[in-house]
Amino acid sequence: MRAFLIFSLVIVLTGVATRIRAQQSPPSLDSKQGILNLPQVIVIPENSTFSATLRQIESSELVLELDSITSISGSFSYYDPNKKILYLPALTIGDETYQNVQFELVTPQTEPLRFRMVAADIDKTALKKVSATVETKPVPASGDAADDPAIWVHPLDPAKSTILGTQKQGGLGVYDLAGQEVQYLADGNMNNVDLKYNFSLGGENVTIVAASNRSNDSIALYKINPGSRMLENVAARTIRIGLKHAAYGLCMYHSKLYDKYYVFINDKSGAVEQWEIFDNGSGLADATRVRSFEVNSQVEGCVADDALAHFYLGEERVGIWKFSAEPDGGSAGYLIDTTDKNGNITPEVEGLAIYYASETEGYLIASNQGNNTYTVYNRAGDNEYLGKFQIVADETLNIDNVYDTDGIDVVNVSLGEAFPYGVFVAQDGKNIDPEENQNFKLVPWEYIAKALNLKIEPSYSPR
Ligand code: CA
Ligand code: CA
Ligand code: CA
Ligand code: CA
Repeated sequence: MRAFLIFSLVIVLTGVATRIRAQQSPPSLDSKQGILNLPQVIVIPENSTFSATLRQIESSELVLELDSITSISGSFSYYDPNKKILYLPALTIGDETYQNVQFELVTPQTEPLRFRMVAADIDKTALKKVSATVETKPVPASGDAADDPAIWVHPLDPAKSTILGTQKQGGLGVYDLAGQEVQYLADGNMNNVDLKYNFSLGGENVTIVAASNRSNDSIALYKINPGSRMLENVAARTIRIGLKHAAYGLCMYHSKLYDKYYVFINDKSGAVEQWEIFDNGSGLADATRVRSFEVNSQVEGCVADDALAHFYLGEERVGIWKFSAEPDGGSAGYLIDTTDKNGNITPEVEGLAIYYASETEGYLIASNQGNNTYTVYNRAGDNEYLGKFQIVADETLNIDNVYDTDGIDVVNVSLGEAFPYGVFVAQDGKNIDPEENQNFKLVPWEYIAKALNLKIEPSYSPR
């Protein structure tokens, strides 16, 4: 990062013992060490009130403002001569924005004075930028067609893991980690897809896959053949749901309490059904409805937390709901974030995904379709808001930005060389450069983790 600065200082003296001397030559920032070089600045603030401005001249983004230095305990900028610490309420350097920044004076005897950043909070309002390293083959239909991805982690060779992706005008695709198509099933208008490991079917331990099929308002069920990596239909019958409107969003849940597998499926009215998936005794999977509840307007994206037994549901224009994921969990939910002025999300709320860092830690991620961003929350506790990011183009790799995202998914484990710290997958509503049908973009998890100061925990097994 180039960080040549021009330094200007406006001084308002309120105490006779305060003296500040500044010289107009540009200070510089060693971005590797975080050392700010301030030339010829001597601050002797025994009783000071002053304001100062540091401004980057090569790029318009770097602005450092020192303002109204009034008290050591307040939130304003000030220099504490005893601790030799410079405190700033906010600081933007390039793409990074920090709050409650502390610089310690590291060269008290020589000029220029040098300050090293020793503490800072990430500014949770700042939008972080990451980019994809892989994009999948475009889906075989034009218009709004790709919708929801699900990541499958291969049991033996993580590099052979796949991305399942719905094509809501006609089928379901399977892609490898280079984005190549492994399989395409023209089985109906599949809207959302999800999967769970270790489902017992016909005496076998399988990955069970569920998709919402809008062609006949049913739950499609497959298993994954680990050898071919292809989907095999295992539905005992056409599992038609009972919702008034067409099948829409879908996600799965494995209850530790009951050791049972469930599908949540919803419609555009806000109605939700929970179905239990079971082996029908002949090696095929069947399902039975175990719960119904609703919110007041259109829903789609959902995700269940297998370890903490929560069910999250996006009410597209309202916010993110949290319910019990258990079949006897009742119908009471509450909003963990809203699209109103006190909230952090922007309508429509679309895809939801969970990053598992451990049994109890990790993140909930939501697609904010209206402004092409993703918001991140703590999985645990009250789902504290942690920040937001967007996926911008990578000109070197010639991968376009991600726009108008429906579904997302994320996984924490290594998927081999291409994604050693896991991957975040997002549907791209506008696949350009060249102009092609919609597809899915793959972002290394560490890009997001570094941008938002999140954990990188590849050791917790999602299987
Ligand atoms: Ca869409
Ligand atoms: Ca959608
Ligand atoms: Ca795009
Ligand atoms: Ca593209």
